[in-house]
Amino acid sequence: MDNVTPLGADVYEIDTRMAGYSGITAGYLILGDRPCLVETGTSTSAPIVRDALTSLGVGPDDLATVVVTHIHLDHAGGVGDISRFYPSAEIVVHEKGARHLADPSRLMASAKMVWGDKLDVLFGTLAPTDAARIRALGDTGSIDLGNGRTLSSHYSPGHAKHHVGLLDSLSGDLYVGDAAGVYLPETGDLRPATPPPDFDLGVALDSIALFEALGPQRLLFSHYGPVSNVTETLERSAEELRIWVDLTRQARSEGLDLDHAVAMVRERTHERYAALRGDEATAEQFELLSGAPSNVAGIIHWLDRTSG
Ligand SMILES: [Zn+2]
Repeated sequence: MDNVTPLGADVYEIDTRMAGYSGITAGYLILGDRPCLVETGTSTSAPIVRDALTSLGVGPDDLATVVVTHIHLDHAGGVGDISRFYPSAEIVVHEKGARHLADPSRLMASAKMVWGDKLDVLFGTLAPTDAARIRALGDTGSIDLGNGRTLSSHYSPGHAKHHVGLLDSLSGDLYVGDAAGVYLPETGDLRPATPPPDFDLGVALDSIALFEALGPQRLLFSHYGPVSNVTETLERSAEELRIWVDLTRQARSEGLDLDHAVAMVRERTHERYAALRGDEATAEQFELLSGAPSNVAGIIHWLDRTSG
């Protein structure tokens, strides 16, 4: 299938095609004795993901595990649908996200407030998952991939309080979710993802430091794809966070309202990203996944919480 890319070590990248876009939301299948899907994509992505798994030989009773790095809808919106397609799969998520997968009503209500009419088109509706099938992770946890291979989870809040990174014991791949920002393979750009209400700079930097300490061989971004220069990339992730926070702090101390703060930060960071100098479609991808309004609002929310 043209949305499946082998990455070596029995790992397959699946373009989950959020809202019909290519190359912005990735899921990953780790094939083996106990096949494991990392990230489902949105609810509307679920049939696309199922087709991809079928093409890789994974039938309805073959999928052992579905794990999500966090419960934002671009990562976990399809969990309910996928859990119905694959009745044998255990659903694994951090404990702070577990109840929202079992009962998505509050999560969907707050998403509706953020996204309004765009919600249906972008994400669809997260369906509930039988609570008995959900395994909640604490600060660390382990997923059995078969043949002695494991995926270990490491709590990594900062982007979201229910976020984990996942390290493959065989390949050294680290699934970073959104904790290291949003990476655009077309341009090599990396931009932070600092949405409300959970963003916290210190916590986010601690998570990036934890990722470095794990010594991964490769980073697998949910947005989007594999990156091999690990140290340099994680340093860039931290630098991006500091720059966006510094600029937002400055805008806030000048008394700018949100719209003007967004405009200022957007203008001052513009030259950092080749994507914004390129074609409009690539720039639009950035705005969808780590939009300046969402990033600046998340940073201001944190500043308001912490600095009074
Ligand atoms: Zn995301």
